[in-house]
Amino acid sequence: MPQPSVRMCAVCRQRRDRATLLRVARLADGGLVIDPRSRLPGRGAWVCRTQACWEPAALRTGLSRGFKARVEADRVETLIRQLRRGLDEGAWNRAQSEPETATAERGVAGDSTMR
Ligand SMILES: [Zn+2]
Repeated sequence: MPQPSVRMCAVCRQRRDRATLLRVARLADGGLVIDPRSRLPGRGAWVCRTQACWEPAALRTGLSRGFKARVEADRVETLIRQLRRGLDEGAWNRAQSEPETATAERGVAGDSTMR
């Protein structure tokens, strides 16, 4: 039986339930935005909430591979700022349908030191 809810993290390439991943959309102008509700058009890549997958160098490499396009370093920095702002607002937790997974894995969203 297929499992359409499973996606591969573009950075660490582990397959996870999409509820534990964040979708990153690449806009027509090359800008990157976090798309917690998976509604934005365009090419998307999934990144899990593990802090290691949000290290700038790893994230840039993973997204370049995921989007099959060169990703500029400043785009990655902007994306990480979006993530941190969202953490402050609890936005990613609201989008999270399985909160127990994030805290159990000590993912980005569950790490209070990132706030
Ligand atoms: Zn990952």
